[in-house]
Amino acid sequence: MKAVCWHGANDVRVETVPDPKILNPRDAIIKITSTAICGSDLHIYDGYIPTMQKGDILGHEFMGEVVELGSEVKNVKIGVDAKRLLLGDRVVVPFTISCGNCFFCQRDLWSLCDNSNPNAWLVELQMGHSPAGLFGYSHLFGGYAGGQAEYVRVPFADVGLFKIPDHLTDEQVLFLTDIFPTGYMAAENCNIKPGDVVAVWGCGPVGQFAIKSAFLLGAERVIAIDRIPERLQMAKEQGKAEVLNYEEVDIGEALKELTGGRGPDACIDAVGMEAHGTDAMAFYDKVKQAVRLETDRPTALRQVILSAGKGGHVSIAGVYGGFLDKIPMGSAMNKGLTFKMGQTHVHRYLKPLLNHIENGDLDPSFVITHTLSLDQAPHGYQIFKEKKDNCIKVVLKP
Ligand code: NAD
Ligand code: ZN
Repeated sequence: MKAVCWHGANDVRVETVPDPKILNPRDAIIKITSTAICGSDLHIYDGYIPTMQKGDILGHEFMGEVVELGSEVKNVKIGVDAKRLLLGDRVVVPFTISCGNCFFCQRDLWSLCDNSNPNAWLVELQMGHSPAGLFGYSHLFGGYAGGQAEYVRVPFADVGLFKIPDHLTDEQVLFLTDIFPTGYMAAENCNIKPGDVVAVWGCGPVGQFAIKSAFLLGAERVIAIDRIPERLQMAKEQGKAEVLNYEEVDIGEALKELTGGRGPDACIDAVGMEAHGTDAMAFYDKVKQAVRLETDRPTALRQVILSAGKGGHVSIAGVYGGFLDKIPMGSAMNKGLTFKMGQTHVHRYLKPLLNHIENGDLDPSFVITHTLSLDQAPHGYQIFKEKKDNCIKVVLKP
């Protein structure tokens, strides 16, 4: 089959690789119909996620048809159509791999599954404990082949595969695999109450879903921050957010002004470890990250903490990898902020968010700016990274 393989920083190639096979009774093989490139993939593309090996298959946002099932997978079916051709259920697959049985899965904390990362010991050395395994996201997170490919093996398919009704298009449901639940969980972690003002740093795909979700959950106002004009425009037109360009205004001051001096009730970081910045501190991060003295560039996170109003919530959806410098903990502590964060517990949100899509509350396809063939994946990565050609979200069609 064809798959998008990593070969180093800024080097992904579409190659012919062996087809995946069922290895365990709880596995399924999915024929991919749509797959997307995520901001998290850019951290790999840019070379910041350790333990990648040449040839690793990327991709964790994918959906398709079931073509093969292990003996213990009973929640989906493969039938035959009128012409006696195989016809498998149409499914989306959460990017987090979860067993469904462990202490954490049983508590609805799916991204913390204790059984899906065979390389947990490696993560424990750095992080103390290991989260769940992830598709296409380095050997640190399990070394699972990703879904930017024609086929993928899904472990724990009996709890991971989620059947999609025929009347919805791929484009409407594909983002249930990651960015819609991620934006939604980011907003949920803000503990939104009527009248609340929520500020969202980053108007990439995750930020766009955080904005919409904050309104779904009852926010009165959402203020969105970025510097890319078309992303700010999408936040304004699609998300109905007020927007701020951090290259044009001082964000801390502007937020105070917009909130009567109090600051936002909640602040969402939808930027993560590769933040761009304009101040001296951002330059410091860039240099330190380049020489590997700092793992992440937390420009946005610092601003999030300093801008949050007293007693406010800080919700971190952006991915961080390691050790961050100069985090204003004094501000966080003395302002009594509440922090919530994490890889998304995608399984938890599949049903409720599918309901929102079916009810017409939100059509997730609004973020798609580019639909490309799998062969065009290297181009897709490049324009998404460099924000060229007004690129906001790329969907690949194998
Ligand atoms: P993206 O790269 O398209 O978006 C990031 C946006 O942040 C860009 O528009 C960029 O211009 C903006 N930005 C950069 N520096 C900024 C700053 N200082 N202030 C404000 N905005 C700034 O990526 P995405 O797909 O939207 O993902 C965003 C983050 O969410 C990434 O870190 C990704 O890894 C993470 N993510 C987390 C989860 C999870 O489970 N928690 C899931 C998916 C993605
Ligand atoms: Zn993702």
